[in-house]
Amino acid sequence: MLLDIYNYTLGELEKFLQEDNIENYRATQIYQALHKRIIFNFNDIKNIPESLRHYLSNKFKIPRLKLIDLQISRTTKTKKYLFELPDSDLPVETVFMQEKGRTTLCISVQSGCNLGCVFCSTGYFGFKKNLSVSEILLQIYEIIGLEKIYPTNIVYMGMGEPFLNYDNFLKSLKILCSGNGLNINSSKITVSTIGLKSKIKKFADDITSEENKDIKKVKLALSLHSTDNGIRDMLIPISKKNKLSEIYNELIYYYRKTGTKITYEYIFLKNINNKSDDVKRLIKLSKMVPSNVNIIRYHPTEQKNFLELCNNYSEDDINEFIEKLRKGKVVVNLRKSNGIDIKAACGQLAAENYNKIKNNNFYV
Ligand code: SF4
Repeated sequence: MLLDIYNYTLGELEKFLQEDNIENYRATQIYQALHKRIIFNFNDIKNIPESLRHYLSNKFKIPRLKLIDLQISRTTKTKKYLFELPDSDLPVETVFMQEKGRTTLCISVQSGCNLGCVFCSTGYFGFKKNLSVSEILLQIYEIIGLEKIYPTNIVYMGMGEPFLNYDNFLKSLKILCSGNGLNINSSKITVSTIGLKSKIKKFADDITSEENKDIKKVKLALSLHSTDNGIRDMLIPISKKNKLSEIYNELIYYYRKTGTKITYEYIFLKNINNKSDDVKRLIKLSKMVPSNVNIIRYHPTEQKNFLELCNNYSEDDINEFIEKLRKGKVVVNLRKSNGIDIKAACGQLAAENYNKIKNNNFYV
């Protein structure tokens, strides 16, 4: 069986090749061709001998994601890519955004998700599979090939919870930031988590360890959405087992260890999380460690639920909430809803076109 070469770090590839007496500099050449120059065929790696290209083809494969659908927002430059994973009938979605000189890719770590947050279409889609390192990286490499542009920023905010696919997610991060790979500065990468006990602490330990210097500046965003345990349990079922006090302790640990400020993601839900007590608690929380709060508009899911009731808000409601927070010295931004018309905005990824297109055999 051929091995998936994208699942190897440079160190692992060196070790593999050493067993066949192939020198380390050859591993570097191969790794650079795959992860920096984004070459998809061993025969196109012209700076290695033909015999080595032949050797690679006999040992490894270069898998590809199949492009199933591409939707382009009419209002922004946002694009939503729907891919099929190699060797499976499973979809994954990736979002491409261009704004103010930045090219950002919002990537997925799972096909679907089983955490069932009520504001998230991915949760309703359900869990299908943890992505391999290769499948995480390929979302980026395929889009580089198609768009002919390298991303400046990466956000792990697509389908799935990164800390539930921890090892593959972490390895993908290391490969993206490695000097022989895309060499993305880790401060340009944000990882979003719903907040899982002991994982934030582990992540802080991992990114500050000596061997992970390349990823030490990666940013962490917590999907907070409420500072009240009861309300948060209602919005995010898994938070029943991950109480806010425990998550806050881990954030303090994270900040002490990394020195990187935290982002809190907060969907504005009128009459649910915008009351005066919510403002007071957010002000208090913002003093815990350096942080900023991203206010996000609620993007309705296909599945109707009680959140529809709080979607009837005015611009004044949201601005008033933001003003109160600013008065309390909270650093707060209202996040733009990029790609809402193509269901590419926060909480909207559900591969809804996948079955339709597959059944009709109608590909892009
Ligand atoms: S918000 Fe994140 S953790 Fe919650 S269901 Fe959606 S993808 Fe899963």
